[in-house]
Amino acid sequence: MSSAYLIGAQRRTGAASFTGIEAATGKALDGDFAITTADDIAQACALAGAAFDAYRETTPEARAAFLDAIAAALEARAEAIVARAMLESGLPQGRLNGELGRTTGQLRLFAKVLREGDWAGAIIEPALPERQPLPRPDLRARQIAVGPVAVFGASNFPLAFSVAGGDTASALAAGCPVVVKAHPAHPGTSLLAGEAIAEAVAACGLPEGVFSLIQGPGNDIGTALVANPHIKAVGFTGSRGGGLALIAVAASRLEPIPVYAEMSSINPVLLFPAALAARAEDLGRAYVGSLSLFAGQFCTNPGVVVALDSPDLDRFLGAASEALKGVAPQVMLTGGIAAAYARGIETLSGADGVAVLAAGPDGDAQCGAARLLAVDADDLLSNPALTHEVFGPSSLVIRCKDAEQIVAVLEGLEGQLTATLHIDEADYPLAAPLLPILERKVGRILANGWPTGVEVSRSMVHGGPFPATSDPRTTSVGAMAIHRFLRPVCYQALPDALLPDALKAGNPLGLPRRQFD
Ligand code: NAP
Repeated sequence: MSSAYLIGAQRRTGAASFTGIEAATGKALDGDFAITTADDIAQACALAGAAFDAYRETTPEARAAFLDAIAAALEARAEAIVARAMLESGLPQGRLNGELGRTTGQLRLFAKVLREGDWAGAIIEPALPERQPLPRPDLRARQIAVGPVAVFGASNFPLAFSVAGGDTASALAAGCPVVVKAHPAHPGTSLLAGEAIAEAVAACGLPEGVFSLIQGPGNDIGTALVANPHIKAVGFTGSRGGGLALIAVAASRLEPIPVYAEMSSINPVLLFPAALAARAEDLGRAYVGSLSLFAGQFCTNPGVVVALDSPDLDRFLGAASEALKGVAPQVMLTGGIAAAYARGIETLSGADGVAVLAAGPDGDAQCGAARLLAVDADDLLSNPALTHEVFGPSSLVIRCKDAEQIVAVLEGLEGQLTATLHIDEADYPLAAPLLPILERKVGRILANGWPTGVEVSRSMVHGGPFPATSDPRTTSVGAMAIHRFLRPVCYQALPDALLPDALKAGNPLGLPRRQFD
C-alpha cells in the first residue's frame, strides 16, 4: 500500500503512485507514494479556505506556539528526516543536520516576530472632530493574512526551502493556511516533515485545513493547485521555466494572484585590483570552495566573476585552477539536474571566446564535475546568453579591459540575488560608482565574503529583480518574508466593539502601535 498524502487531518491514497529515487544511484527507493488526485487537491484547498477566517484571527501567541510546536515535532523526527533526505537528495549528513537546524530556527524566528507584534502594522489616527475645514474620522489600519497559500518545495533545500521551510513558516505566521506541493525529488522527506506539521496542527487545536501536503510528479498537480480559487498567493523556489509557468497560471485565473517565485541567479563577484594584489591566491582558493560547495547547487552560487585583466588576475586564476582540479565529482540532486548541468557546460564551453581553464575529475551520470571557464568581456557583451544560469559546480570569469567595460558587463546582467565585492580601501574609488548599478540589479550586496550561506535574520534580503525573483519588493528568507502574505485593511469610524483586537482602544493583544495626532 502506498504512503498517504495529507488532506487536512486525513491520510488519503489515490489509485496511482510513484517512488522516491536514490540520488546517488538513480534507482528507485523502497516504498511508494500515492499521487494526489484532482478531487483531493480541490478538497485540500476547500479545507484551507474553510479554515482561513478562524486561523487568521488566532492570537499571535497561539500562532507562535504553533510554529514552536512544528519545530519541536521536526526535532523529534530529526534522525528519520535526515536519513531519508540523505538518500533522496544525495546531500551529506552534516549539511542536512545543519539545514534541519536552519529550518527549526526559521520557524522559531517567526514565532519571535509574532510575539513582538510589529508585523501587525497597527496604526491609529484618532478622530479630529474640530479640524477645519473638515473633521477627520477615526482611522485605524492593520495587516491581515491574504488567504490560503500554495507552497512549492525546492529540490536543493529539501528541508529549509521545502515542506516546513521558509515559505510555509512565513505564511503560517501571517495567518495563512498552507497547501504544500512536495518536490517529487524528495517525497519521503516531505511526508515526514508534513506529518510533523499535521501533528502540531492537532496538538494546538487548530482547524484541520491549516495544512495539507499534496504529492506527485508532473505539472498537472501544481497547475491545479495554483488555479484553485481558494488559493490567494503562491511561494515557489525552483527553475525559471517552472516559476514562469506557474506565474502564467496565476495570471490567467478569473482572480489573478501574486506568485513569489525565486528562480535564477548567477551572483556576480567583483574582484578589485588592490584586493587581488594583496591576496589573489587566497581568493582563488576560497572562490573554488564557494562555487563547488554541495555541487554548486545553491541559488547563491558565484556563477560569474568580473575583474580587470591583469597579472594579479592570472595569479587568482592559477590558484583557482589548481584548487578546482582537486574537486571530486559530487552526486547531484537528481539525474535531471545532473544532465541539465552537463548540457549547460557543453553549451558554455563551445561558445565563441570561452576557454575552459580547469576541470575537476568526471564522475558517473549522477555527478557534477567542477569547471572553471573564462571569457573576455568583448565576447560576453556580444553573447548575453553566456550569463544564463548553469546550475552546478561551475563559474565563468569575465576579463575586462577597463572600468567602462566593468560597467557595461554589470549593466548587461539580469536581476540577481547577490553581488559580492572583494575590495581594499584603495579600491573604494573604483567600487563606489558601481554601487548604484548593483543596487538596481540585486537584493544583497556583500563585501569580502562569498554569497553562499544566507543568514536567517531580520535584515536579510534573499530576493532581487527578475529573474532572481518574480517580485523584487520582497524576500523569501528572513523576518521580512512575512509581508508577502499580509495586506493592509483600514477601519474608518468603526465602533470599538466592532474593531479587531489589534486596534481596540484597550489594546488587548498588547501590540506595538503607531499613534498619530
Ligand atoms: P523545478 O523543475 O522548477 O520544480 C520545482 C517545483 O515546481 C516542483 O514541485 C515541480 O513539480 C513544479 N513545477 C515545475 N514546472 C512546473 C510547471 N510547468 N507547472 C507546474 N508545476 C511545475 O525545479 P527543480 O526540479 O528544483 O530544479 C530544476 C532546475 O531548477 C535546476 O536545474 C536549476 O536550474 C533550477 N533551480 C534553481 C534554484 C534556485 O534557487 N534558483 C533552485 C533549485 C533549482 P513537477 O515537476 O512535479 O510539476
